[in-house]
Amino acid sequence: MKVLISGASVAGPVLAYWLDRYGFETTVVERTPALRHGLGGHAVDLFGHATDVVQAMGLWDEILAARTMIEKLTIERSGAKPVHVDLGRLYAGMSDRHVEILRGELTRILSAADSSEYLFGDSITSLNDDGDGVDVTFEHNAPRRFDLVIGADGMHSNVRRLAFGPEESVRRHLGGYLAVYSTPNLFGLGTNTLTHQSVNRLVAMYGVRQTGQARAAFLFRTENELAYDYRDKDQQKALLAKEFRDYGWRVPQLLEHLEAADDFYFDAIAQITLDTWQRGRIGLVGDAGYCPAPAVGGGTSLAIATAYILAGELAVNGPDGLRSYETKVRPMVDRSRAIGPKVMGSIIPGGPATLRLLPWAASVVPKLPTPIQRFIWSQNAVGKALGSEPLPTYAPSPGSPATPIQ
Ligand SMILES: Cc1cc2nc3c(=O)[nH]c(=O)nc-3n(C[C@H](O)[C@H](O)[C@H](O)COP(=O)(O)OP(=O)(O)OC[C@H]3O[C@@H](n4cnc5c(N)ncnc54)[C@H](O)[C@@H]3O)c2cc1C
Repeated sequence: MKVLISGASVAGPVLAYWLDRYGFETTVVERTPALRHGLGGHAVDLFGHATDVVQAMGLWDEILAARTMIEKLTIERSGAKPVHVDLGRLYAGMSDRHVEILRGELTRILSAADSSEYLFGDSITSLNDDGDGVDVTFEHNAPRRFDLVIGADGMHSNVRRLAFGPEESVRRHLGGYLAVYSTPNLFGLGTNTLTHQSVNRLVAMYGVRQTGQARAAFLFRTENELAYDYRDKDQQKALLAKEFRDYGWRVPQLLEHLEAADDFYFDAIAQITLDTWQRGRIGLVGDAGYCPAPAVGGGTSLAIATAYILAGELAVNGPDGLRSYETKVRPMVDRSRAIGPKVMGSIIPGGPATLRLLPWAASVVPKLPTPIQRFIWSQNAVGKALGSEPLPTYAPSPGSPATPIQ
């Protein structure tokens, strides 16, 4: 079977890898002129099932070697003593398997593992599903026909727009915004994260050990949705500068590097609430189908685990696997939707009480014995999403060297 995957970041390469191992013929189309790999982008987390999947792909050691190595977090607030958090112990309390890695590094490692055909610098312009296959046209490449087309093209998915309709009808705005860009390592951060919280605002920065630079992140809440052009970076930079111009702390030094930042990222903290991820021979995986909200929702682990399940279901059931995949991943997706609002409420405090309580809790919980930490996590949305049922096991296709997850 010939499968076209749109998007080569996290879900796309994982899906391509497993389909490849199950004997499918896969093509990946990616809008950027080359793979978005390397030391740019933001730090993302792999928990639980996602670590099982990359282990089964034989990539665990490489991912571990490329990890950020950030283990300490300092939370500062005006008029309060800094709070120090042992992130290593915090994550160990949440899950017995966790790794943090820059998204570009993860993409590099994941995409080197499969032997799909990659079409860079291109995008799908139309999809015509006639029940037996899908005719696809591209901006640049010649039209082609595939047995299946999968959108792994992120929160603003092109495949979703073409096959399921406009984004506005399936986007749930959580009321916040997020900006990230690189700066020189102005404050000698090493591999620590330093944050400053206030009501409705969070500024965070961490050192990137491989480049000697730092990355600054700004999260904020607004009463009304901001109107901006998602292609206009200068307009977004101006919006960010306006939101934080009176913030104080170390923000003025960070903003001095805003204009020159060439990796500036800005987006709404929003979820994709579509409730079906297949239409005929077209499907969605990862953020394209069910983005649980950038930076606060655990989308990377979800994308990896669900891409593995989609490949397995297609291997077992052929095109009908799109429907069985949907049934299998729905509980995981439903649980993940509860994470974003909770995490956003903690890291961007909505009022003075949360501003006082959460840094205290973040410093105390990691000091508790691991079983008690596990119990605490199991009582909330984040823990419930991490501790879900085991991943299904798929038999490899005849002759394939696949080692299914045990
Ligand atoms: C600032 C920030 C911080 C984050 N922090 C965390 C974190 O700490 N932990 C965590 O787990 N997750 C985090 N996330 C979320 C995480 O990055 C995503 O959940 C994850 O990358 C989803 O993977 P994906 O492959 O589904 O989509 P994406 O990573 O969004 O990839 C989509 C791919 O599709 C490509 N594409 C887009 N349009 C087209 C098109 N028309 N044609 C072809 N290709 C196209 C894009 O170029 C990209 O390569 C964060 C996200 C952001 C933005």
